[in-house]
Amino acid sequence: MRGHAERLNGLGTTIFAEMSALAVATGSVNLGQGFPDTDGPDSLLEDAIAAIRAGANQYPPGRGIAPLRQAIVDHQKRFYDLSYDPDTQVLVTTGATEAIAAALLAFVEPGDEVIALEPYYDSYAAGIAFAGGRRIPITLRAPSYRLDLDELRAAITPRTKVLLINTPHNPTGTVLTDLELRGIRDLAVEHDLVVITDEVYEHLVYDDHRHIPLATYDGMAGRTVSIGSAGKTFSVTGWKIGWVTGSPDVVTAVTTAKQFLTYVSGSPFQPAVANALALGNDYFDGIRATLQSRRDLLANGLSDLGFEVHRPAGTYFITTDIRPLGHTDGIDFCRLLPERTGVVAIPTQVFYDNKEAGRPLVRWAFCKQEALLQEALTRLQKL
Ligand SMILES: *Cc1c(COP(=O)(O)O)cnc(C)c1O
Repeated sequence: MRGHAERLNGLGTTIFAEMSALAVATGSVNLGQGFPDTDGPDSLLEDAIAAIRAGANQYPPGRGIAPLRQAIVDHQKRFYDLSYDPDTQVLVTTGATEAIAAALLAFVEPGDEVIALEPYYDSYAAGIAFAGGRRIPITLRAPSYRLDLDELRAAITPRTKVLLINTPHNPTGTVLTDLELRGIRDLAVEHDLVVITDEVYEHLVYDDHRHIPLATYDGMAGRTVSIGSAGKTFSVTGWKIGWVTGSPDVVTAVTTAKQFLTYVSGSPFQPAVANALALGNDYFDGIRATLQSRRDLLANGLSDLGFEVHRPAGTYFITTDIRPLGHTDGIDFCRLLPERTGVVAIPTQVFYDNKEAGRPLVRWAFCKQEALLQEALTRLQKL
């Protein structure tokens, strides 16, 4: 048999597979993969069970069930004062991951350049490769991880088609500021670019930071593919219910690609997520407060252990610099860590093209129960 397609080159298996296997083999506390160890609200779980019993087990409509599309519209209105038509401007997807892949397939021609903020969420590189695009990184540099708008401007060429933005940003925890978002808007409008914006951590923003969707800026409505997901907001990362909002043309294009990836999914989860999106502010404030205090517990603990901690403004993750502990390479450090201490973390370097920028950085997930975070910190004292 002849070999696999070139587009798979460099994709390999994800770092999460390697590190989660190490975690199991060594009995480690796994702060590698970003999934919560507490399931979402009881009402959400019960609604999905009830939906299965009530017969929501066959193909739902291609764009998602009407109550969920309406709930997404209501959510965008309630939190951001954005208005959408549920019939033409909303698409339910198999998680944000499928939305990202479908959006890239919908807008990227072979050879087009896609500018993305690195370190990247790991599916971006694959999605760009599957679409035949060329990945152009803009590096968010520690310790501030701010977006350099001059660098972004300089990266735009006549082949640039898409800006792939992620805010709040995994893994750096950066939440793009109004100034940065305006800068992105200005460049997108000037160069007539499509902007795909992954906002799955929209509700997980701490202190006095604020998430502002790119779609709220003048000039963005017709060129923005906005992507959300229930996974992170409601602690159900295995449910894979995501969504796209945008202009009717944008949503139709993404739907055209999506319908031949999975067609549809998650029948019993869709009504449950529809109800969850309408939960009161106490739910959304509560998840934010819980995660903020877990961030502080882990950030303070890692700092006490001698790491240089880059305290995140949002997401599930803290990044640290390991050099104060006498280490220089995150991959070497993370491969030894489970054996030496019984804790698993992820080397941020694997999410960069520009490896040097990420070499001494390690990512820790804090979306775990406090007792587990405490246990990890106790184990790390062996360092
Ligand atoms: C978790 C995550 C996703 C995936 O979301 P799903 O809804 O589970 O597919 C997408 N983007 C970022 C940045 C993430 O961290």
